Parts: sequence; C-alpha cells; structure tokens
Amino acid sequence: MLQKREKVLLLRTFHGRTLRIVREHYLRPSVPCHSPLCPQPAACRNDGKLLTSDVTHYVIPDWKVVQDYLEILEFPELKGIIFMQTACQAVQHQRGRRQYNKLRNLLKDARHDSILFANEFQQHCYLPRERGESMEKWQTRSIYNAAVWYYHHCQDRMPVIMVTEDEEAIQQYGSETEGVFVISFKNYLDSFWPDLKAAHELCDSILQSRRERENESQESRGKEYPEHLPLEVLEAGIKSGRYIQGILNVNKHRAQMEAFVRLQGASSKDSDLVSDILIHGMKARNRSIHGDVVAAELLPKDEWKGRTTALGESDNEDKASGESPSEPMPTGRVVGILQKNWRDYVVTFPSKEEVQSQGKNAQKILVTPWDYRIPKIRISTQQAEALQVDFRVVVRIDSWESTSVYPNGHFVRVLGKIRDLEGEIATILVENSISVVPFSEAQMCKMPVNTPENPWKVSPEEERERKDLRKTHLVFSIDPKGCEDVDDTLSVRTLNNGNLELGVHIADVTHFVAPNSYIDTEARTRATTYYLADRRYDMLPSILSADLCSLLGGVDRYAVSVMWELDATSYEVKKVWYGRTIIRSTYKLFYEAAQELLDGNFSVIEDIPEFKDLDEKSRQAKLEELVWAIGKLTDIARHVRAKRDRCGALELEGVEVRVQLDEQKNIHDLIPKEPLEVHETVAECMILANHWVAKKIWESFPHQALLRQHPPPHQEFFSELRECAKAKGFSIDTRSNKTLAESLDKANDPSDPIVNRLLRSMATQAMSNALYFSTGSCAEEEFRHYGLALDKYTHFTSPIRRYSDIVVHRLLLAAISKDKKMEIKENLFSNKELEELCRHINNRNRAAQHSQKQSTELFQCMYFKDRDPETEERCISDGVIYSIRTNGVLVFIPRFGIKGAAYLKNKDGLVISCGPDSRSEWQPGSLQRFQNKITSTTTRGDSVTFHLFDHVTVRISVQASRCHSDTIRLEIISNKPYMIPNTELSHQNPLLLKSELVKEVTKSVEEAQLAQEVKVETIQEEYQEYCQTKGRSLYLLLEEIKDLALLDVSNDYGV
Ligand SMILES: [Zn+2]
Repeated sequence: MLQKREKVLLLRTFHGRTLRIVREHYLRPSVPCHSPLCPQPAACRNDGKLLTSDVTHYVIPDWKVVQDYLEILEFPELKGIIFMQTACQAVQHQRGRRQYNKLRNLLKDARHDSILFANEFQQHCYLPRERGESMEKWQTRSIYNAAVWYYHHCQDRMPVIMVTEDEEAIQQYGSETEGVFVISFKNYLDSFWPDLKAAHELCDSILQSRRERENESQESRGKEYPEHLPLEVLEAGIKSGRYIQGILNVNKHRAQMEAFVRLQGASSKDSDLVSDILIHGMKARNRSIHGDVVAAELLPKDEWKGRTTALGESDNEDKASGESPSEPMPTGRVVGILQKNWRDYVVTFPSKEEVQSQGKNAQKILVTPWDYRIPKIRISTQQAEALQVDFRVVVRIDSWESTSVYPNGHFVRVLGKIRDLEGEIATILVENSISVVPFSEAQMCKMPVNTPENPWKVSPEEERERKDLRKTHLVFSIDPKGCEDVDDTLSVRTLNNGNLELGVHIADVTHFVAPNSYIDTEARTRATTYYLADRRYDMLPSILSADLCSLLGGVDRYAVSVMWELDATSYEVKKVWYGRTIIRSTYKLFYEAAQELLDGNFSVIEDIPEFKDLDEKSRQAKLEELVWAIGKLTDIARHVRAKRDRCGALELEGVEVRVQLDEQKNIHDLIPKEPLEVHETVAECMILANHWVAKKIWESFPHQALLRQHPPPHQEFFSELRECAKAKGFSIDTRSNKTLAESLDKANDPSDPIVNRLLRSMATQAMSNALYFSTGSCAEEEFRHYGLALDKYTHFTSPIRRYSDIVVHRLLLAAISKDKKMEIKENLFSNKELEELCRHINNRNRAAQHSQKQSTELFQCMYFKDRDPETEERCISDGVIYSIRTNGVLVFIPRFGIKGAAYLKNKDGLVISCGPDSRSEWQPGSLQRFQNKITSTTTRGDSVTFHLFDHVTVRISVQASRCHSDTIRLEIISNKPYMIPNTELSHQNPLLLKSELVKEVTKSVEEAQLAQEVKVETIQEEYQEYCQTKGRSLYLLLEEIKDLALLDVSNDYGV
C-alpha cells in the first residue's frame, strides 16, 4: 500500500542559480527503523545494521548540524545517532559529493553506531512543505516530526534528543513532546560529553571559523582572484573543448610559481594537447589547491612559458640562482574548480616573533603546511595563542574566498612536538591520510581464539568440504629466517600417470574474514599493511596474520590452492585445479637453508629443526624427498621464467630491487649481489599462481574481476636514460620490454658496477605504475603486465597483507562455485564498485610507498643530524653524479642509498672551484652546462668539469626546517672519488645497512627519552595495545620493495 505524493526540490546550483525539480514520491506504512527496541521488526524489515542497545538516548542531528559538524558526529564515542533522510539530502545538495560520500561511508561503517532513517518515505513522518515556508524551516520541521514519530515507535522507551542550530526551533519544540528534547549541538556536547575534549575543541574551532566567515562576507573588500565560472558553464566549456579538465599538480620545489594541470577525462583524448598545462603563478592558479580537479583555459601562445630546469631550493623557491626556463609549453589559467580534494593538513604555527611581527591586532594568523605544495592557511589568532608554537598541528580548510589571498581554515588537533620522532611519524601518517587506530574490542571479539586452553581446530564441516592434503602432499614454505606471517607454501609430487603436480597453497584469509564484517571493513579501509622505516601497521590483527592464517610448520591450516598437472619432461600444463584445502606444512624453511639443499650441501640440516629427533634412516629418506622437491620446483621455475623471458620480462626488479639478506639476515637495500636462486624459484611460483588465478577470475567474471596491469611506458620518458647511457658509450633500445631488458644487460661497465645500477634505476623511474583495475572498465589489450611480460596478472598470494588479494580470493571461490553450478555466496562487487575499490587500493598503495620513503628520509636525517659535518667520518662519502642541471648536479651515495642535489653555484652567486689538490672552494665565476657535463669557470680562469657518472667526494649535512621535513644537503668537497685511509675506493667500503641506521637512530631517541625520565616501555605497550607488531618480516619487505620498482616515488628535484 503505497501513497503517491509529489515532492518539489529546489536545488541551488554551484553558482547560486535555483533549479526546480519535481519528483514522484511514494509513501509507505513502514520503513526500516534499525532500532533494537522496534515492536515489529518484521514489518519494519530491520535487516542489516541496528543501533546498539547500550545507550541512554538516541540523538538526531538537524540538517545544519550534519552539514557543519559531521566530523564530530564521526567520533566513535558518539553512539545511537539517527541520520534523517532529510538531513542527508541537505548535505548532498548543499555540501557536494565528497561530503555526502563521507556521510554514506559513515552509515555503511559497521564500526560506527549510526543509522539512516528514510523519514520522507514513511507516511506518518512525511510532511509536505507549506506555502511560503523556507526550505530550511521545512527541513527542521520534518526532522522534528520524524523524531517524535521515532520516539513513539520505540514505545516511548528511549529518550530522543534532536540537536539543532535553529534557536527558534529550540524555543518552539523544546518542551512540546515529553521524551523528545531539542537543544543546540554545543549544549548537547556540554551536557552529555563534558569529557570528550577533542570534540569540544573541534566544535569551538568550527563555530569560530564560521562566525568569522560570516563577518568577513559582510565586509566588502577588494578581490584578490577572479570569480570561478558556474559549473554548467565549465561543463559546457569542457565539452566544447574551450576549457581543459585535469588535476592540479603543484611543483613541490617551486610551489609558489609552478603548477601543472594533468589532463583527465575527455580532455586527454579529444584535444591535440599531449603535455600537461603549465599554470604559472598563484593568480593563474586561482585558489585551486594541489589535487583539485580543475577547469583551465589556455592562454594565447605568446604568453606561454617554459618550465624550470634549475635545481630549486625548497626554502628559497623562486630565487634559485641560474634559473633558465626551457622551451615554452602550453600555459593556462584556472577558471573553475570541478572537485575539491581537500584533506587534513599538518601545519606549523609561526614562532612567537613572527606572530608579533604580524601585528598584535591581527584577527588571523598564517600557518605553514608541512607539504610545500599547499598554500599557507589563515587560522584565527585566538586559537593560535592557545597553542604552543613548537607543535605539529592538524587543520582543515573551510573556504577560500576570492577576496582573500589565503584560504581560511580551522584547527583540528595537536599531533606532537616538532622534531620528536613520534610527532614526525604521526605527521607522515596524517599527510598520507593513513589512519591506523588500534583494532577495537568490537572488532577483536569477533575473532576466533587459539590459546593453549582453547586450541583452534579444523572443524568437521570444513573437513568434508575441503580437499585434504595433509596425508597426501609434502607441503613446505620457504621464507626469510624468523618470518611469522607465512602466506604461501609449495608442493610438488609425481602422479600415478607419471605427470608432475605443482601446488601453490595460500593462506585462506577469507575463511576468517567475512565480507562486510568489522575486520573486513577495517582491512578494506587500510587496504594494505604499512611498512615504515622502523615499524609496521598490519592490515589484519595478529591473531590472523601471525597465527591462524599463517601457514606455520606442523599445524593444520586452511588454504586456497592452485594445483597444476604438468607434463613430466616438457612441464607443459595439462590441467589446473583451484579450490579450498586443508594442509599441514612439514617444513618451514629459510632461504639460505633451501639454497644449501639445492646446492647439495646437506650439512645444513643441522639448522633445520624438523630434522632433529629423527633416526638416521628416516632422516635420510626425508632429506631425499625434500631435496628432490626443491630441485624439481627450481627446475620448473627456471622453465617458466625462461618462457617469460622470451616474451620480454624485465630484469629491472632483479638488480635494482631484489634486496639482499646478509649474514645477520638484515636487508641491504639497493645492494646488487647475485640473489639466491631459490628466491627466484619461490617468486616464479607465486607469479605463476597469480597469472593463472587472473585468467580464471577473468574468464568467470569478465566484467568484474580485479586484475593488475602495468602499462607500457611513454617513450619520451626514456630520453634521459638513453642520453645517460650514451655518455658511457652504451646504447639502450627501448622499443620493447625485450629489447630494453637485453640492452640494459649489456650496459655494464666492469670497472664501475654503479653505472648499471643507476641506468636500471632510471629505467624503473621511466616506467608507469602498476595498478589494480576492474576488467569491466578496460579493454582486454590494456590488461597486459609490461614488466612481467604477461597478458593477465593479479595479486592472489599475499592475502594477509593486501586487501586486493582478499577480493581476488572471493572472486576465485565464486568462480569455483559457478563452475560447480552452486550458489555464489560471496557477494561480489559490480564493475563500478570494484573500480572505485581499485582506485582506493591504488591510492592506499601510493600512500604506503610515500610514507615508507618519507620515514626512511626522516631516519636518514636523524642519523646525520647534530653531527659536525667537518669532523665526523660518517658525513663524508663517495658519490656518483647521475644527472646534470643548470646550476648543479644530482648525486647518488651508494653507501647510504641517498640521492640528492649538490649545487655548483651558491646563494651568493659564487661557483665551485677545485684546485690542484682537488679540494673545492667558492669563487666568483660562471657555469656552463653541456649535454652530459657541466663546467665551472672562475673569473681567474680556472675551470673544473663534472661529467655524468663521475665519482666525487661529498659532505652530507642536514638542512633543518621548522615547518617542513628536514632534508639532506650534499656538498661536493672534492672532484675526486672519496679515498678512505687505506686508499681503497670507497664504493668498496662496507655499506651501511638501512636497518642499522634505523636501529642507531631509534636507540638514540630512546636514550634521549630515558634522559627525560620518560618510560621507554610505553612504546612497547602501545604496540601490544594497538595489536600492531613491531618489526617486519623480511620476505614481505622484499616483496614490498620489489613492487616499488614499478612505482615512481622518486624525488623529481624540481623537474
Ligand atoms: Zn521499527
């Protein structure tokens, strides 16, 4: 029984124009109320999320409260929140898609105690708008009416509090209905949450910023920027080609001057433009902020400018000496913003002196974002005074009026002290939008237990459903020593028909993580495990990642397996089987031991615990069996690898990133030793499994499978690589992945292995990023993985630390059900949903890589900080020039894995000069840049030339910055390689391990804390409490860095 009504919506468009929309509207006798107090849950059809019973009242925010205070309503402490449909629609229409999506996600989030009540579809709640009644008044009246209905629906058993900003409504409805209270939001927080300090601070902050905005809009002041064009004009203009749509990307090294619009959508296909568009200066940027989607207009050709090729100094952006712009390029100005991409920003308040210089009576204060690309933000002085100046603080931007030079924002929370390790790590997390709140009790109590008193067991139902490999298959894992979270195991055996059977068995994470459960939602939000230089944040709680999902030796575990039947001699795939299994891994081997066995060195079994306590005879038999299996696996892997090589698989990962483990099992990053073959065996088996699973899920779900693509690189990105190689007499052929791989192999200078490494690193940086995508939104020829030379690829083998693999497991299991004509229980994502999820996961992976890089740089700076660069041995090192710029060179320091800029001209305009003893000094003179070298000539007539790949001696120091991260500074102190006392070249010097650097810095931080009588234990406790594990598995790190090779996270040094 539905009643039809007409609902008139008046929508305000982007530029204040009003649109009238009439919608048919059907009323029902009941809609889901989502309350556990509901007297007729069946009629209400209350499936899905319910409000908790554990509250003293329900709270119903008015539309304006939802619009303005959503970030407070997001606090997990606030429970029993009912969002009325009327309020949600007000957000959608007035605040835009981003804010509306935030609200929708909050409602979907099982961890947050809030529900949506569709009051406008409920026949007793719906109120038509009266003649002459304003939209705002009607919305408030509707929400109040629905609040009263809801109170009675729950049989008057739960008080309802409506919170509103409308004073009249408080007067009018405040005492109208017993049990339904109407109060202001501020009053609500004061009365019910007096101790929730963060919410109060945020509330004051928002109130104040709103008040000021209102005051300001009343003052009429001069315009600093042109008005943005209305949305409909922008959209029409983009369609006609008059405007260009793209993402604004600010050049970090000259943030005031240079930004680029990276073409997007229709603009990238239809226009003749091939390059980005330069946006020169703040005026032309017209209030758009890094990351915003903007519409830009091209300027006439005679106004085009070139990008800068000089090294920029971050703190002195626009005055870099020797600046020489390149060829003019398409240049434009921003005419409107299509989508704002504002996030939380970490800022630093000005020092006391700076505050005073801004004038005592200033209403606002300018705070400086940590990210150079973000403009300064205006915050009210009242808030600034309350804060100490030496903290890192989170702010949000509220608005940027055309009358204001800077955007307005409000204070959100304090992160920690400047230069304090924990404060700086927190900064890196916020800047990458990484939220790693501890797993909550609600999340943890849904987890299975495994304790000595209550051990976890294989269930009889699972035993029936799964293929049991425990007695039939020799399953084992090969990982770094000490690895806790084993996602993958292997098996190989000869079948009765003489064929071979190869098996890859992966942890069955989705058995424990149901779709949309608490843990699933949390894992999806995190999307990946985050590895910082000194710690990691797990995607899954440790009960899963290090215990029940981990395929440890000697215990029963659930797995998802791929098993191939192979021809015994040609290794051709005859059959493949996918399915759920039960396994018991016999050996948890470490790489070195497996390699020794492969090499026939059997004394290593003394180090393998599984061989202890065996009599000689069975020991011998078991050893033979295992050695055969490892040997067979390696042979199969060689064969599969050779097949990929013929198709042009790149060895890039090989030398650049296949990280090495040393005797202490530490990682040498960037150290080009020959890897153990057994690494490659394991990796190849995983690539094979990923490839076959990709094919399977794509065949079963051609429009909604999650795959991973690696697009071929743009040829123009290779020009630097080709030029550099030429300087050393090598020729790099970049026409295909195969020719690239082959020519890189040949570009090897036997006297200096660094040359090949640098060339490979340049090749890696020219690559596009490997990305997840949904097969429904991409043509099949674009599926290819260029780096691995495979037509289809996905991630299946690490579900413990990657959410993509969890999605892929569900797809694979659904595909198996489909084959068996069984009901598909997994709720699969539609193409559109999957596309959105892929975007999220890709974004989180970038964040993971950036945070890893930034935390490594933080530790590097801490390592060199407070050292006297004049006297300390660690501050002098050998470096290799790998790029020439107009005013300096880029240098790679192999010993520390640091890349940085060294200037040949200083701020006073003096140039570098090296005398007969090759020591450098600053002299008046000039620089001249050539293709592969740069010459510095003094006015006296001495000159020195630096060539690409020259070894020089550099001094490393730290350039401190209060508002931004510290940076490493390099200074060439001699044009000769660094000689250590025994006159060996220093690139043969022992290399400093990254882990040792981290260890040393951590130790000194802890000592400093001890000195201040701060308990060091708190750090340990925090890890316990947050259910995060400290330290990391080397294999995972290895995998992580391998993937990094396909991602450009290099510093671009201004170009
Ligand atoms: Zn109900």
